[in-house]
Amino acid sequence: MKYNIALVPGDGIGPEIIADAKEVLEKVGEKFGHEFVFTEYDAGGCAIDKYGIPLPQETIDGCLASDSVMLGAVGGPKWDDMPNHLRPEKALLALRKEMGLYTNLRPAKIQPALKDACVLRQDIAERGFDLMIVRELTGGIYFGERGRNEEGDAAYDTESYSVMEIERNARNAFEIARKRNCHVTSVEKSNVLETSRLWKETVHRLHDEEYPDVKLDDMYVDNAAMQIVRDPSFFDVIVTSNMFGDILSDEASQVTGSIGLLASASLGDSKRGMYEPIHGSAPDIAGTGLANPIATILSAAMMLRYSFSLSDEAECIENAVAKVLEEGWRTKDIAAPDDENWLTGSQMKDKILEAI
Ligand code: NAD
Repeated sequence: MKYNIALVPGDGIGPEIIADAKEVLEKVGEKFGHEFVFTEYDAGGCAIDKYGIPLPQETIDGCLASDSVMLGAVGGPKWDDMPNHLRPEKALLALRKEMGLYTNLRPAKIQPALKDACVLRQDIAERGFDLMIVRELTGGIYFGERGRNEEGDAAYDTESYSVMEIERNARNAFEIARKRNCHVTSVEKSNVLETSRLWKETVHRLHDEEYPDVKLDDMYVDNAAMQIVRDPSFFDVIVTSNMFGDILSDEASQVTGSIGLLASASLGDSKRGMYEPIHGSAPDIAGTGLANPIATILSAAMMLRYSFSLSDEAECIENAVAKVLEEGWRTKDIAAPDDENWLTGSQMKDKILEAI
């Protein structure tokens, strides 16, 4: 099969890690007989420098015409003083909107070889965990009406959800659970919030009508936050609102050990998604060889699984990463302080290529 992939490297370490992920995809394509055709587009600070705006129309058109999009990261000190509408990060929000992406997937998994770096109790780390947070991305309190009273001494933000918004996000969660361990935990605060009561009702109705084969349970967000540090192996798929997902996904990512390992995906109604590492453009290490490419390489694996339904190919990348880590290879961010033999990002990518 032939797949057209739009690459949006962005700024800082973005171009390095996207180049590494591209090589990995090429190797997987060779091995499994697929043709991946790549086209690069500008977004973020580099687009501001070239076109005066963070998201040129050419990039929007190219991404919409592709089968899927891989993004590095955008931003950096050079553009920190730009007016709000011209900030590099605006490119991400605008691209998500243009592509109709409303669900964010963030896996948090402990790599068996990195259990020692896990901040959880050692027996919990030993047990391991592999959870997926499915977060609603375009609604809720972050997009609701907000303001202050005339005196300016009181403020409000509004949480609002429609059945349609809850249902389309929950549908993605149930579909994903079917490709994993068939267990969804719906996280809300229905003992207090009306939006959460609608959330719970809607998730249960959809479950009963269309996904009775998937195990479904409910958890208040405060309990879920505790469960992530008590024993995250309880979870398979968590489905939750925009704000709760924002907080829980950062918490879950931290318990795994390193920001350089964690992938993410944004999905909508079509198969086309946007795949990117959860970290930023790390301008402090750009061009030094210190950038760990694993988060971006694992994002490429997510693209194969969720946009192209190529599960064997995705597993091949994930297994190669696990093998290289098992063999003891480390980039500086995940190396022990006294480990002098750490690899550059590009050397790590070469080890992963060898393992594919
Ligand atoms: P960051 O994630 O870029 O960096 C935080 C720390 O982690 C830094 O010390 C960095 O060196 C390190 N780090 C990040 N990725 C790494 C990797 N792959 N390998 C090794 N070390 C890594 O966050 P920040 O410093 O707060 O932000 C830097 C810039 O990135 C800012 O302009 C910010 O707005 C932008 N940003 C962009 C995105 C995005 O494009 N999705 C997300 C977050 C931040």
